[in-house]
Amino acid sequence: MSVHPNLIGAERSLAASGDTFVSTMPATGAEVGTFPRSAKVDVDRAVASAKAAFDGWRLTPAPERGAILFRFADILRAHKDELTLLMTQEMGKVAAEAGGDVQEAIDMSLYMAGEGRRLSGQTTPSELRDKFMMSVRMPIGVVGAITPWNFPIAIPSWKLAPALICGNTVVLKPAEDTPLLAQRFVELLHEAGLPDGVVNIVHGFGEEAGDALVRHPDVPVLSFTGSRETGIAVTKAAADNLKHVHLELGGKNAIIVMDDADIDLAVDGIVWSAFGTAGQRCTAASRVIVHRAVYDELQKRLVARVEKLRLGLPWDPDTDIGPLINAAALAKVHSYTEIGLGEGAKLLTGGEPGSSDGFYYRPTVFADVEAGMRIAREEIFGPTTTLIPVGSFEEAIAAANSVEYGLSSSIFTRDVNKAFRAMRDLQAGITYINAGTTGAEVHLPFGGVKGTGNGHREAGQAALDVFTEWKSIYVDYSGKLQRAQIDNQ
Ligand code: NAD
Repeated sequence: MSVHPNLIGAERSLAASGDTFVSTMPATGAEVGTFPRSAKVDVDRAVASAKAAFDGWRLTPAPERGAILFRFADILRAHKDELTLLMTQEMGKVAAEAGGDVQEAIDMSLYMAGEGRRLSGQTTPSELRDKFMMSVRMPIGVVGAITPWNFPIAIPSWKLAPALICGNTVVLKPAEDTPLLAQRFVELLHEAGLPDGVVNIVHGFGEEAGDALVRHPDVPVLSFTGSRETGIAVTKAAADNLKHVHLELGGKNAIIVMDDADIDLAVDGIVWSAFGTAGQRCTAASRVIVHRAVYDELQKRLVARVEKLRLGLPWDPDTDIGPLINAAALAKVHSYTEIGLGEGAKLLTGGEPGSSDGFYYRPTVFADVEAGMRIAREEIFGPTTTLIPVGSFEEAIAAANSVEYGLSSSIFTRDVNKAFRAMRDLQAGITYINAGTTGAEVHLPFGGVKGTGNGHREAGQAALDVFTEWKSIYVDYSGKLQRAQIDNQ
């Protein structure tokens, strides 16, 4: 099989060492492609390429940059079926969800393309006569984008579309489990008319190519999505150069079901949020906090639904749940079943691998879970959810807030007062009312509080703050020296 090369400027090149790695299908083990196992020397070339392209790109009018993103959205749409099928193969999410992943990238490209005609700053009156004041967004330089495998088209778009519209250039180091999808993403960006060097892709492993990108002195901004542990390592490695580090990390998201909830609707929300993408979403609902008055009923209806979910090949339209990403993920998910059993939680269904082929795991529900148990605190990143009984709204909120993460949250209730209290009191970057924990749209900020991140947001207007620096500009047309805070006392 020929090697898919790194894309650096106008060049297509292999790793200088000649080393490679193989991407395989989690459902079958079949090979998808071979990629360069890049190291520092390869990253250095990619950064030099992005740096050389920066001036030309930052001086390209933002509406022109936007026109390229509009074309990119059209091209993505034309390739949606191809990318959807490839995603079912290389990443293993089922076809409907893979189509949604591509659609998110289309939406984000359109949204950020439109930003090319805004990128608004502030104008504000001066305290002095004949003086004008405004703030403008300035691009920063080379952005290092490091992405995970679970949204292999959407997440690169969340980073690259805003970085590009703001006038930055990019080196992308995609996840080693989904390199072909990232490669296609960048190839299609080039097809949309992006000048050489504006986006470069370097394949390889996190501790090698990823670390080299994080430490490179000519990369002032890092946008990282991945696990909490890696996020902390990235932050430490970037500290000596005082880089801007944008982190989107894990979650331990909870759905609260109150005693007045529509139980069938809540079950729909739980099934979609806990088991969609086989639970491999940062917003997956791995905790369900249930009022005791409806606990037995909810358990019964939920287990009946979960046992009907069909495991299968992700590209088969009848499949509800595809495989986990790799053998390590399967081992980790199963280890949490053993941890849960050891902690005294009650296994209602699942708890074992789904088949001898592929990395399948049966959808798993634990009952009688206490908020302090490890299965209720640690990110499992698989099709496992935990039912936590509570006696009141206050207890539900306290349980929801008792973890170190703070990404998404949800409450099912018909009581508007409880809904508004939940919106105020849930410690999370996202709160849904009468919906599960997943379903973000591209034009609101996306990200979390506490251990889920470091205060930045992806998507929405907030994404622009990651990829720009504010400059405040004062224009004095009085013809004399005017001193603020002194001449106007
Ligand atoms: P991961 O941290 O193992 O890897 C993510 C990326 O970081 C990969 O490209 C990897 O090669 C790279 N990497 C690994 N070590 C590195 C290092 N030392 N230096 C630089 N780069 C390094 O995460 P994963 O398993 O790919 O993804 C799953 C995690 O991502 C989960 O915790 C999930 O919750 C999180 N996630 C968060 C969001 C969000 O927006 N909050 C979205 C999706 C996934």
